[in-house]
Amino acid sequence: MSINIKDYIRTIPDFPHEGIMFRDVTTLFLDPRGFRMAIDQLLHPYAGKRFDKVVGLEARGFILGGAIAHQLSVGFVPIRKAGKLPGQTIAQDYKLEYGEATMEIHDDSLSAGEKVLLVDDLLATGGTAEAGIKLIEKLGAEVIGCAFIIDLPDLGGRAVLEKLGMDVHALTSFSG
Ligand code: IMP
Repeated sequence: MSINIKDYIRTIPDFPHEGIMFRDVTTLFLDPRGFRMAIDQLLHPYAGKRFDKVVGLEARGFILGGAIAHQLSVGFVPIRKAGKLPGQTIAQDYKLEYGEATMEIHDDSLSAGEKVLLVDDLLATGGTAEAGIKLIEKLGAEVIGCAFIIDLPDLGGRAVLEKLGMDVHALTSFSG
């Protein structure tokens, strides 16, 4: 029987709030075969493409992005929640289910014209990734691809990113 990425993802009901089915990728990261499969599959559509940097969204995007950057032998750039990065930053607000949040990137982490792969564990409404794309573009870099382990198609994030002209790649999806 072939192994599927989905088999490694654990679902935790009612986390962090009642009624939320949390898709937990720590069980995927825990398994060496699963983790390697995820990194290989995330990179598969981009074979032959050139990236200058990998950008990861806090927090699980750091784990994926670090492994991918190592594999591609390029630098890694973190996008973090406001107030966490020590250097000079630029900021982007975005909407959450309830309220607003802010993401930041170091303003010297990308150069104009650099080609970037954006990674995170999960795409839901697309708000977090959209904020990341805006930060990357504010620094003059270009997002060549947005790669996720999980897409939640009911929440419409793929359409949001595709409207921005993004190429979206997800390894698996959960509906309902
Ligand atoms: P979005 O901004 O609505 O697309 O939400 C995506 C962000 O929320 C990503 O950074 C995810 O890590 C996080 N997230 C939302 N739901 C889940 C989940 O069920 N599992 C893991 N991360 C999640």
